[in-house]
Amino acid sequence: MKVLAILYDGGEAAVQESRLLGTVENKLGLKEWLESQGHEFIGRSRIMLFKDQCSSTLYKEGPNSDFQKHIVDAEVLITTPFHPGYLTRDLIAKAKNLKICITAGVGSDHIDLNAAVDRRIQVLEVSGSNVVSVAEHVVMSILLLVRNFVPAHEMIERGDWQVSDIARNAFDLEGKVVGTIGAGRIGYRVLQRLVPFDCKELIYYDYAPLPEAAAKAVNARRVEDLKDFVSQCDVVTVNCPLHEGTRGLVNAELLKHFKKGAWLVNTARGAICDKDAVAAALADGTLSGYSGDVWNVQPAPKDHIWRTMKNPLGGGNGMVPHYSGTTLDAQIRYANGVKSILDNYFKGKEQEAQNIIIGLGRYETKAYGQR
Ligand code: NAD
Repeated sequence: MKVLAILYDGGEAAVQESRLLGTVENKLGLKEWLESQGHEFIGRSRIMLFKDQCSSTLYKEGPNSDFQKHIVDAEVLITTPFHPGYLTRDLIAKAKNLKICITAGVGSDHIDLNAAVDRRIQVLEVSGSNVVSVAEHVVMSILLLVRNFVPAHEMIERGDWQVSDIARNAFDLEGKVVGTIGAGRIGYRVLQRLVPFDCKELIYYDYAPLPEAAAKAVNARRVEDLKDFVSQCDVVTVNCPLHEGTRGLVNAELLKHFKKGAWLVNTARGAICDKDAVAAALADGTLSGYSGDVWNVQPAPKDHIWRTMKNPLGGGNGMVPHYSGTTLDAQIRYANGVKSILDNYFKGKEQEAQNIIIGLGRYETKAYGQR
């Protein structure tokens, strides 16, 4: 059986640190295990061709890339959301043997899920594997925006010391209203972690209401209308999957309903927020800050506006590369999870229900849109 893994080049770091499992070098720790069972393992990098490395946002998978070459007869495809191999409908049409896609992590929007349904290709994730990792990053991102941390640190590195320049835009999280779009595994863990901060209120927007006991445990109120929801929040955090119903959800129109000077944290998927609308809202002070680790295209082009956008006071940007869900702790969990999904597949055993996004010809999860 041919197992194709599209991982990313970890370079010197991956040679020095064997716990960087999601890299081409360390192969999710799977190569020997797979080969010992007689399977062929192709663990390659995605080969990307930047049209213009410095200034263009245009890029594509190379037609001669390992991905495109090996997908035609691979039965199993393993990808990671951090540096994704985008499995489009066109590529799925070429993937004649493909039966199962496994996401090493959480979030499978880099796969055309509707095309997978049509071709009866299963898509599985390692659900829950990195949700604590992301929830911690969200809380950190909220704090660094509200407290104006990044410009304060940059000032110190520059050798300056002008407290008022930082303090003029630094606040406490205590007493603020924080709301999550999506209150699933990550969104709920964010709410749990915010309880000790004595926020004025914790609220959520999700078509699936939290079980009563869970909502009560964090004292969270559900708001059913999105505009009404954002208008009540000092901080909005986005924690829902990217699908037809969430692409561009936070756009210029919705941003008009945000509280003036709100903070927005998105570690879910870049394309849930409109790139240019967010940058404009930050520049004109509609937002005081935007932070996250996910981008509409990954890797983000060098000139992506989210790298350098700022609020009118020169701060408010907490962007980092996509790594919140790929701490070394998380990598062990998702590598083990991939192995267990593969093992079930080889032995014809039932998969854990929580990991199945697309079953044979149908969505098995309610998280990727209401249908
Ligand atoms: P989950 O399935 O447990 O929860 C998702 C929640 O979003 C569900 O409650 C669902 O009902 C809700 N939802 C879906 N569409 C919605 C909509 N239109 N409006 C409001 N709510 C909606 O998933 P999770 O484990 O919490 O992960 C959520 C997402 O976070 C993933 O799909 C992935 O895109 C992202 N993620 C990012 C990283 C990272 O490293 N940055 C890591 C893991 C997951």
